[in-house]
Amino acid sequence: MNDTAPRRQLLITDGMVLQSADPAAVPKRLDVLIDDGVISAIGTDLRQRLVAADTEVLDGTDKLIIPGMINSHYHSHDTLAKGTLEEEPLEFWRLLALPPQYPKRSREEIKVRTLIGAYECLRSGMTTVQDMVTLFPFDPDHLDAVVEAYEEIGIRACIGLQYADIKGISTIPFWEEVFPKELHGGLSTAAEPDKKTDQLAYLEERYLNAPARDRVNWALGPSAPERCTPELIQRTIALAEKYDLPIFTHIYESKGMALQARREYPQYGGSLIKRLHAEGMLGPRLNLAHSVWLLNEEIELLAETGTNVVMNLLSNLKLKSGIPPIREIERAGLSFGLGCDNSSCSDAQNIFQAMKLFALMAAVSDAEPGPDQSTFAFRAATEGGAHALLRDDDLGSIDVGYRGDVVLMDLTDPSYIPFNNVVRQLVYVESGRAVSSVVVDGRVVIKNGALQTMDAAELRARVDAVLPGFMADFETVKARTEKLRPYLLEAHRRIWGEDVGMNRIFTGV
Ligand SMILES: [Zn+2]
Repeated sequence: MNDTAPRRQLLITDGMVLQSADPAAVPKRLDVLIDDGVISAIGTDLRQRLVAADTEVLDGTDKLIIPGMINSHYHSHDTLAKGTLEEEPLEFWRLLALPPQYPKRSREEIKVRTLIGAYECLRSGMTTVQDMVTLFPFDPDHLDAVVEAYEEIGIRACIGLQYADIKGISTIPFWEEVFPKELHGGLSTAAEPDKKTDQLAYLEERYLNAPARDRVNWALGPSAPERCTPELIQRTIALAEKYDLPIFTHIYESKGMALQARREYPQYGGSLIKRLHAEGMLGPRLNLAHSVWLLNEEIELLAETGTNVVMNLLSNLKLKSGIPPIREIERAGLSFGLGCDNSSCSDAQNIFQAMKLFALMAAVSDAEPGPDQSTFAFRAATEGGAHALLRDDDLGSIDVGYRGDVVLMDLTDPSYIPFNNVVRQLVYVESGRAVSSVVVDGRVVIKNGALQTMDAAELRARVDAVLPGFMADFETVKARTEKLRPYLLEAHRRIWGEDVGMNRIFTGV
């Protein structure tokens, strides 16, 4: 062994390796060698290259080996609320589930909720998660807890703190008119202005200026353009360019957001996309979550500027937002990723559900038969997610020089018997049941279904310990929101009575 020898190596032997989402790629029986977190060789008989002091061999027999998948839009802040709600319009749901409605949480609750969300992602074959987390009121110690959680459980995370400087109530059509004035102070959205702490300054000083971490990276998360002043957008662009960071924001999730743009930005033709273009924010580092109510001319502008989209069909349906213009986005050649979004409205952190729903919704988005949607879905979950994170050159594929993020799927599972078409079976048949082992940065994080980095039973006990406190607050928030339902419904119906130049929901007419 010499100075240049790797310190740690993982060899996966005799797996059926699917290197990428390229339609021409077919699984081949190969070994994959990962040195110090980076794939160093793909071939046969690689055992003789095991030279490090710390080596591990994972048997890939009867396993399909695929690139680790990427959850490109997710929020760890409400994982404790999974399964609590039925369908609700987006604007109702925000008042039920999002942090500004709740008292300050404990550090332990922040940590535990981040861990359980990450665990669910890992068990579904996601090796990277983009967490657009809201910490409200902001506490530096809470951000440290999020970082700690991701580092301890071993998933790759790109954290984008969610921030805004315009109050939510003034960005939703009709709310200020419909709600009595005395209720205005209690109405909030995804992120609210936080005057006490300058989150971006803290982030820069504490993390962006610090040495890079192995698996935790950073993005910027302006909550939504309508909740950010032009000054905050400029600050975001400058910081992103200085540290070469991706930017994630919400755009046109609901009809109310499209209507608000029509009313609020006459100088930009009623378009948030044109506003962002004028402000210099469109481009490859920007990712627009949801994009349900995009107009075709806006899609063209995104294509011209290389701006990306992240689709979240699961939450778009449950929150009655509608179906994004999938086929138009594909035709325009936009790069896009897939997200599982909030646990309180999606509710599963399951990329297989997200891929299948995407492919099926694409099918009903155009009467004419189109290209293979399973290919689009799998590419979005892998290469599309990597592109969103500015990581085309080391995530989303299995190749020499790429990070060692791979998933071993059990080919003895009935989902693969018979084994006819790898990508179609991953997208249309697989539920997540066959996810066997998960490797992140060359470390085995899940082995034969079992979490390796921490005691799963202990994690469950920690969730059980914080849950009563969370549920007591959840019930209080729910009871308070229920009293607001007549006002919420009135504003909702007024929004639906307006014309924004398109329709994105099935109404039976
Ligand atoms: Zn979101």
